[in-house]
Parts: sequence; structure tokens; C-alpha cells
Amino acid sequence: MKTIGHYVNAQNIEGTSGNFADIYNPATGEVQAQVALASVEEVEAAIEKAAAAQVAWAATNPQRRARVFMKFGALINEHMDELAELISREHGKTIPDAKGDIQRGLEVVEVCMGLPAQLKGEFTDSAGTGIDLYSMRQPLGVVAGITPFNFPAMIPLWKMAPAIACGNAMILKPSERCPSTAMRLAELFTQAGLPEGVLQVINGDKLTVDTLLDNETIQAVGFVGSTPIAQYIYGRAATNGKRAQCFGGAKNHMIIMPDADLDKAADALIGAGYGAAGERCMAISVAVPVGKDTADKLVEKLVPKIEKLKVAPYTAGDDVDYGPVITKAAKDRILGLIDSGVAQGATLVTDGRAFSLQGYEDGFFVGPTLFDNVTPDMDIYQQEVFGPVLSMVRAQEYEEALDLVMDNEYGNGTAIYTADGDVARDFASRVNVGMVGINFPIPVPLSYYSFGGWKKSAFGDLNQYGPDAFKFYTKTKTVTARWFSGIKDGAALNFKAID
Ligand code: NAD
Repeated sequence: MKTIGHYVNAQNIEGTSGNFADIYNPATGEVQAQVALASVEEVEAAIEKAAAAQVAWAATNPQRRARVFMKFGALINEHMDELAELISREHGKTIPDAKGDIQRGLEVVEVCMGLPAQLKGEFTDSAGTGIDLYSMRQPLGVVAGITPFNFPAMIPLWKMAPAIACGNAMILKPSERCPSTAMRLAELFTQAGLPEGVLQVINGDKLTVDTLLDNETIQAVGFVGSTPIAQYIYGRAATNGKRAQCFGGAKNHMIIMPDADLDKAADALIGAGYGAAGERCMAISVAVPVGKDTADKLVEKLVPKIEKLKVAPYTAGDDVDYGPVITKAAKDRILGLIDSGVAQGATLVTDGRAFSLQGYEDGFFVGPTLFDNVTPDMDIYQQEVFGPVLSMVRAQEYEEALDLVMDNEYGNGTAIYTADGDVARDFASRVNVGMVGINFPIPVPLSYYSFGGWKKSAFGDLNQYGPDAFKFYTKTKTVTARWFSGIKDGAALNFKAID
């Protein structure tokens, strides 16, 4: 059985705790590897080494640091196929989707290539007589990144790239369900010239995370995962005096207005609802058609598209639409929620519960499922399903649809499909959600903006990557400097003997 340890001081090392977690092949249900779960001592040793390495990295001039990112970006591109295979093997997503996962992380690395410009301070000349005022952005020290299973490349890169660009060292704790991609990215970062110890990848579970949260050397925590864990980590990190930004779960709604192009809206719902088996924090899980006619037509358009979806292991080719979900527990939870939707009176239009593939009967596959006539009191509406299940909640008018989005406890992403600019503007302005798409289903901001939800989708102040990340990972120091008038005023212009 293959075992995965940790990446410390630019070396792959074995775990010493004796504790391991299973990594599954989600397509077959078999255990394909085991990952070591770090002990308190292993985490503390990695932090100590990172703290030693951080000092020289912070002192490396910004352009030299930027060159490491340039090489890292080139290496990620060179190793795109290999990294995609690593992602798909452990996560189960298709190869094209895995390449998207890498690409959206790579784009954050690209922004970090411009780190000298991002980290410039402010300067006021002559703020008073002989007084200059300036601010500097200085690194925090050693920071921690804790990431989820659903984007094994993108989210570790969202964490490690800006943190390290700012002159910090990072302890990255990837998901124990698919850790290999983060381990390989760390090797490539070293190959690009990152000094040893600046990035340590420590695998583990709650004990590892809690050790990071309680350790005094760790200055900041960047977390992405489910809402209950995000809230817990935010609380514990903040109590311990650390900066924390913790991004949580989602329930993203798409409003479809009667004037929308329904073919385009249906295509968008198929991609955003079922892509990556619905395991995206920006997936659309609720469609809100406005008006009976819009809803009826939309169902009519969705059903044949859903029936055509190819659900299979990634190895079955690039035309696979989506693969298995991550674990048997995830599959059972999703099937249970579909059962609850039926029991609570929603209309099951397409039923993915009985989906099975010959040769992969033990795999964690769930067929594409569509519910109509879902109401806000149902479990299928209230809980984050994180599976290939789209719920349709019918609204009579725009204000009712908007209220639905506003009243939902999550606020990660949302979208509206319409041909009316006035409605689109009103929606973008009033909705209490962090990322908004107008005729655009998955509005993940490009890497030179920042990503973050509202309400229970995020805890903390600043968003991740982009301009906010450069603020989150640096402390501002402001200097007021006065230089008294001296030799300039008293300068002697005549040639004379020194007194
Ligand atoms: P998760 O919360 O189970 O795990 C995330 C990380 O936290 C993992 O590294 C895990 O080891 C660690 N962890 C789990 N339980 C812990 C505990 N009790 N104490 C300390 N650490 C713990 O999330 P997941 O299942 O890996 O990922 C799916 C979730 O992530 C979904 O809810 C999804 O919406 C969310 N997500 C959010 C965003 C975003 O940016 N808002 C992006 C991607 C995924």
C-alpha cells in the first residue's frame, strides 16, 4: 500500500505518528493509498523549521522572490498533465475539469509574479516641516493554510502563493482525502527556487489543525471548507490572537427571469449544477425561475440535457461529464437528502439514486438529480447538498426570487439570467451575496480581484487572493520621520581653516 508522508524542508518524509487515513479511488471504492496524520510533535517541528527559513526569505528582495514565482508558473504549465492525473486519481473529477482546477490556481501564481508592485508602500513627502510619512507592508511570519478536498490544486495555490509572495513561510494542511497534488506542487515550488522550509506540507486531521491553531508562532490562518469547521477555526484562531479568514459552504441560487434566453440558462444550469458532481462551492444548487411558464419551459429543456450526461470514471475519456463523489459517506448523505426531498413533497423529475455503472458498482457515483417544486422549509433546500442535485424553487415575481436569495443563510455566489439591464443592475446592487453573475453562472472572480462570500459562507474580514490577500498576509507599519535642518544650513562655502 502506497503511503504519503509530509513535505518538510524540501524533503518528502515519512510520518512518525503511526496514524493514517485511507485515500480512496472514488470510482471503484477501493483504498488506493494511506496518508500519514501528523502528531503534535511533527507539526511543531515543521513550524520551527519554517520560522527559521522565513527570516531569509523575507529579506530576499522582491524581484528575486518574484522570479521564483515565474519559474513556479512555468513548471506548473510543464507538469499540467501529470498534476491533472494526480487530481483525478484521488478526487475523481474529469481530466479537463482537473486542468481547470490547476489553471485557476496558476492564475493566482501569475498575479504573484507582480509582487514587487503589489507590496509597494505609501509615501507622503513633507507631511510637516522636515517630516516624511511612509508605510511599509511587512510579512507576518509563519502562517497556516487549511484546505478542502474539492479543489486539490486551486485552493492550496490560493493559500500558498500570496502568503509566500508576501515574505511569509506557510504550513499547508491539505485535505486528507486528496493530498498528493499539494505535495507535488510543493516539490515544484522547491524546483523553482523556493528555499527549503518556506513551504511545509503537513498532512493530518483535527489534531494537526488544532495544533496549528494553538501554536504561538503561527500568525495567521487561511481556511477553506465547510461552514461549521470554518466557524470553529475562525473562533479558535481569533481567540488565540491570530488573523483568520475562513471560507465556508454555500447554497448558490440562479434566478431565471421570463425574458432570459432559456437555452443558455439551461446550459448554464447543467454545467454549474452537475459539473464536478456538484462538488464546487460555487455550484448552482438552486434554480429560481420566475413565472410558471419560465419554470415549465426550463424543466422541458433541462430533462433531455440531464439524460444525456455521461457519468463515468475520468479514465473513460474526455467526454465524461462528471465522475464519482469523494467518499461513500458523501454518497450516502446525498442519497439521504434526495430521499428526504421525496418524503417532504418535492417533485423528483430525474432520479439519480439508482445510478450504477457496470464494473464500478462499488464506486461513489450519484446520477444527476432534478427536483421541481422545492420549498424553503425542505431539508434538500436548507442543507448544502454538495452533490449532483439541482433543486428548482418556483417564484411568481422578481421580488419573491430576490427575497429567497436574501433570506438564505449562505452568501457565496449567485447569478441572474435576464435580457433586462435594469433588473440585472438592481439585482447586483441589492443582493447580499459576495459574488454575482449576470448571465454568467459561476462568477469566480479572476485572480486580480478577490474571492469571498458573505453571511455564513465566510468568517473574517478580507477575501482570498488578489489585492485583499496582499493585505491579509502583511502587517502595515507606518513611519513618521523628521530630519532637522543641519549641515545644509550651516554649510560654509568659503575655504577656511577648521575651527
Ligand atoms: P471540511 O470542512 O470537511 O474540511 C476542510 C479542511 O478542514 C480539511 O483540511 C479537513 O482536514 C479539516 N477539518 C475537517 N474537520 C475538522 C475539524 N473538526 N477540526 C479541524 N479541522 C477539520 O470540508 P471538505 O468536505 O473538505 O470541503 C467541502 C466544503 O468546502 C463544502 O462545504 C464547500 O462548500 C466548501 N468550500 C468552500 C469554498 C469557499 O471558498 N467558500 C471553496 C471550496 C469548498
